[in-house]
Amino acid sequence: MNTLRQFVKKAIPAVIPRKLYLVHGAADHFESDTQTNCCNPDSRPLINIALTFDDGPHPEYTTLLLDVLQKYQQQATFFVIGEKARQYPHLIERIVQEGHELGNHTLTHSEPAQTSTRRFLEEIQETDRILEEITGGKANLVRPPKGKLNFGKLLGLWRQQRSVVLWDIDPRDYLMNTPSEIINWCQNYQPLSGNFCLMHDNHSHAIEAVRQLSECQNFHIQSHPVSHWIEKKPQYATRTQQACV
Ligand SMILES: [Zn+2]
Repeated sequence: MNTLRQFVKKAIPAVIPRKLYLVHGAADHFESDTQTNCCNPDSRPLINIALTFDDGPHPEYTTLLLDVLQKYQQQATFFVIGEKARQYPHLIERIVQEGHELGNHTLTHSEPAQTSTRRFLEEIQETDRILEEITGGKANLVRPPKGKLNFGKLLGLWRQQRSVVLWDIDPRDYLMNTPSEIINWCQNYQPLSGNFCLMHDNHSHAIEAVRQLSECQNFHIQSHPVSHWIEKKPQYATRTQQACV
């Protein structure tokens, strides 16, 4: 069953417009990908990815994460839970003010298998209302809890012209217990331009991950909001691959 899910996850992007369904960005979507060193003050290869953070905002961790993103000039996408956004509106405001992007991660993060299509779509719309009230704008990107959708939910989102955003890189930071685990993961990560990396800002490890990836000696990772990969056409060139060791 898991194999079938993986197949569907990979097959859909091949036939559906990128605007509606993304698992990763197109490799070498940014001009700088093909001009490896020109935009860097140092000689490290530049790799454009999307750092994405789910399940926040969290009063402590999201604040620290925003600090570290600002320090390293990384721009990210936050898939927020509506109820938490209502609880911490100042963090939603800060996310937007600092150039990051907001995505909708449902109102309560209810278990997909126990949530009807109708209830799921209601949760998306209620989260819309909360985010609009805080920011004055709508978050068009949607990431379903656990990345799980049935056909009805997917169709419901597409009828609303939403972009469904999944991921192709998952360090499983929510299962880690110590900082050394995320440090090890970062050191072994072989980034490809266009990677969408899933992390969580209701846990502490994403903060160290941003620091580690930004300070890596072997490559220069630049994170962009997910929507930066939606509109432009890919330029088709070879992806860069290298481990941070
Ligand atoms: Zn989640």
